[in-house]
Amino acid sequence: MVFGNMGDTSATGVAFTRNPSTGEKKLYGEFLINAQGEDVVAGIRTPQEITEAARKEAGSDKPSMEAALPNAFAELERIHAKLERHYRDMQDLEFTVEQGKLWMLQTRNGKRTALAALRIAVELAQEKLITKEEAVGRVDPAALDQLLHPTIDPNAERKIIATGLPASPGAACGEIVFSSEDAETLKSQDRKVILVRIETSPEDIHGMHAAEGILTTRGGMTSHAAVVARGMGKPCVSGAGSLRVDYRTQTMTAGGVTLKKGDTLTIDGSTGQVLAGRVAMLEPALAGEFATVMEWADTVRKLKVRANADTPADARAAIKFGAEGIGLCRTEHMFFDEDRIRAVREMILADDEKSRRAALAKLLPMQRSDFVELFSIMGGLPVTIRLLDPPLHEFLPHTEEEIAEVAAAMGADPQKLANRARELHEFNPMLGFRGCRLAIAYPEIAEMQARAIFEAAAQVARDTGKPVAPEIMVPLIASKIELDIIKERIDAMAEKVAAETKSKLTYQVGTMIELPRAALKAGEIAATAEFFSFGTNDLTQTAFGISRDDAASFLGIYTAKGILPADPFVSIDREGVGELIRIATERGRKVRPKIKLGICGEHGGDPASVAFCHEVGLDYVSCSPFRVPIARLAAAQAALGKVLGSES
Ligand code: PEP
Ligand code: MG
Repeated sequence: MVFGNMGDTSATGVAFTRNPSTGEKKLYGEFLINAQGEDVVAGIRTPQEITEAARKEAGSDKPSMEAALPNAFAELERIHAKLERHYRDMQDLEFTVEQGKLWMLQTRNGKRTALAALRIAVELAQEKLITKEEAVGRVDPAALDQLLHPTIDPNAERKIIATGLPASPGAACGEIVFSSEDAETLKSQDRKVILVRIETSPEDIHGMHAAEGILTTRGGMTSHAAVVARGMGKPCVSGAGSLRVDYRTQTMTAGGVTLKKGDTLTIDGSTGQVLAGRVAMLEPALAGEFATVMEWADTVRKLKVRANADTPADARAAIKFGAEGIGLCRTEHMFFDEDRIRAVREMILADDEKSRRAALAKLLPMQRSDFVELFSIMGGLPVTIRLLDPPLHEFLPHTEEEIAEVAAAMGADPQKLANRARELHEFNPMLGFRGCRLAIAYPEIAEMQARAIFEAAAQVARDTGKPVAPEIMVPLIASKIELDIIKERIDAMAEKVAAETKSKLTYQVGTMIELPRAALKAGEIAATAEFFSFGTNDLTQTAFGISRDDAASFLGIYTAKGILPADPFVSIDREGVGELIRIATERGRKVRPKIKLGICGEHGGDPASVAFCHEVGLDYVSCSPFRVPIARLAAAQAALGKVLGSES
């Protein structure tokens, strides 16, 4: 036993060999004179800084360990570096000084923010303590989400009412609440809240989950609020001691300002500032160590990473995050604008080919210009465009007003149109008249889209001098014949446009594998399809017979009872849906050995599912642009076999 509470030459403290928030290589921590370990983490006494530099930075008038206990401090300096070299990772240390002599109580790999994990991994590799591959393995792909938090605009006016510790990075804004119960209630009403507490305890976990950010008036960087918020990746300011919180009156006072429950507050977890009102934020910029880790990950991974992108903004974001193409452009998403949706409704509600062609003629120039933009932004990278797959209910007019609008545009009788809309009503639209069924019934729709794609490809190739090779994807097929029928129309249109534009068109036609039958018949389908993209949202829905739109009411019970290990719409069900993918992959490759295989369901951005895709030997995953970095890193880790190194 050693005692830290044996007078003024005794102390106890915790330290990190590098800053757990930023990753900066500097001994970092807190201690208390004449105290025992519990006192440091309890947050009852505000701890003192370890180094003189940190004390000055914090503006504290209490002496640092460096000044108060210089010999013990020098020993700590020596030992912390040795421990880090030995364990080849940032260490979280606990120590006691008993009457001037330093005793190390414990060392372990330290918890850290995603930002710190990146910096530490890169710097340890640069210091040659670990390899680049180990560095890639040390960053949790899911934690990269933490880096995608907004920050406060440096040009914004800040009304700082208090400053605390920058406990967990990122900025957050919301209504003030003083209890975790209120945080949860407001969150369930879709309201954003900042949870303000004197200090937090494990009972507050649910409130912290519900809050955008957490502010406490007590405690240090190693007390509950800071550690938990960092783990959650939520902005947190802790130990803002100048703030007075009164739970009874539901108010907080600081800097002469009193704010009450419901008032808007902004916190900056990167600087520790507490700001009254709403402050302008900036989208995060990813640079520095992030780019380095991504670069190293890219040299290791086998899977390509594409993005699901439907708009020019998505495509730009995809490029910014390092996507190597577009794996899914859902063309129906290009039609949600008001004037466009009217034309789509006209097309859907048309009861003969002539009026359908009239509606399609309105859509053609819009589609063409969309594709011109997408191809231009993607600069020759592959772009997979999926033919229309509109669950009808999302597009049908519902109100009398909407029906009247479409009727006027079509020159049709509103009553007749209302009847047609009623006829098209479906009991289960997700398993109804969607996917390729639309192009089978109305081939002119697929023809219009193919024309728009080919005309745009020809134009962009001409303008940029770079070839554009679109991949045209047919959704929701169950059998080869559906694909054959539609492919014939696409090929015919390609010939037509090539002749009209006097250009040579290069393209591929493939299909989504979204139905169990398609997975089983993949061998046959591959005779026509030049690529497969696994639509695991629908494949999960149809393999389980669980409606993807209605699953929420009971899936939670299934995961809670352990019947399912996780929500299969989030993380791929390896045993069932995964087996269908394996079967389709094997059967498809047997017939067409070079068939391109990808995934474009939501699973494409889930690290565990990305690992599965690597195992099965797909060529690429495609996910939303913001998840591209996560997928790049997860793909690299999958290629490395497992996460190497520490639990970061
Ligand atoms: C899918 O089903 O996985 C897919 C990508 O298509 P959507 O989500 O548009 O049905
Ligand atoms: Mg689908």
